[in-house]
Amino acid sequence: MIDLRSDTLTKPTPEMLEAILDAPLGDDDRTHELGRGEDPTVNELEDLAAQITGKQAAVLMPSGSMANTAAVLAQAKPGSTLLVDEQQHLLISEKYLFDPDFGRMKFQTYRHDEHGQPDLADIERHLDAGGIDLVCVENSHNYAGGAVVSLKRLAAIHELAGAHGVPVHMDGARMFNATVALGIAPAELCASVDTLMFCLSKGLSAPVGSIVCGDQGTILEVRRMRKALGGAMRQAGVIAAPGLYALRHNIDRLAEDHANARTFADAILDLPHTHIVGDVVTNIVVIDVSDLIDDPLRYCELAAHRGLIIRPVMKRYIRFVFYRGITRDEALEAAAIVRELENELAG
Ligand SMILES: *Cc1c(COP(=O)(O)O)cnc(C)c1O
Repeated sequence: MIDLRSDTLTKPTPEMLEAILDAPLGDDDRTHELGRGEDPTVNELEDLAAQITGKQAAVLMPSGSMANTAAVLAQAKPGSTLLVDEQQHLLISEKYLFDPDFGRMKFQTYRHDEHGQPDLADIERHLDAGGIDLVCVENSHNYAGGAVVSLKRLAAIHELAGAHGVPVHMDGARMFNATVALGIAPAELCASVDTLMFCLSKGLSAPVGSIVCGDQGTILEVRRMRKALGGAMRQAGVIAAPGLYALRHNIDRLAEDHANARTFADAILDLPHTHIVGDVVTNIVVIDVSDLIDDPLRYCELAAHRGLIIRPVMKRYIRFVFYRGITRDEALEAAAIVRELENELAG
């Protein structure tokens, strides 16, 4: 079986698991000055994350969803209005921030173009109208087929928002996929946002964890929100050790996943009824098979019978995600199954 449902399926490497055995541990929820805890491995990871992103401080979170939630709550109190991409993960999948029984946030949305670039005029219009407390971007953009928001566009958004006194939060669950695709240092990208989160799980292959980075004061507030959400952890060095390994060894290798996504896409490009949605620039390929079949779920069932596990996204499309452990041969095999399905369903 070739399982391309998500890069959340990556398993830790033996080296990551070995790193846990050697990691010095402590009680990370027993905090001292600047909110730092007593687990030296967590502190080392947070320092490295801050250094890589060029931010003053960082805090380890149990998940990407909690990272987004705590980062937003640190900067916008319940009842605030967030300006989010209309297909942003925290709006469509997470939702908790906008739940009237939980985050009680309001939202306005902006569009992105067919290349996944946020519509600057749309964002400006919302900011000019007033009442926006936080702008949220996603990079790389999951539901836009792994599109990468360009450095120029991100900088323009940051400048616009800054001129209106509004901070920018980046959901960078796959931020390193974006910086590898752009060929730039993460700090260069992160200079254009006030806070960001990235996942240590997913392509970086750590088993658990995400990190929020930002200025000292904001990260202290994120820590307070983490505690409120029940996300403060004790000997969290067991999570931080594989995370450290991931940041030291697994960033550059994301290029292999991008190459496999490209290989897969190139091998189905000529199919007349199977359409690739958007550009393929990172580790995600989204296709539209509505020419072939009404129900994308049924398409996924047919693929599963042939040994390929995939899932619909946004009810209309189907997503293929490439990650460590998926080989080039498997990418080609997945493409062969997509070709078979086209021949069968179009015939
Ligand atoms: C996976 C993901 C998250 C949430 O991460 P979890 O660790 O699964 O909670 C947030 N945003 C985006 C864009 C993601 O892809």
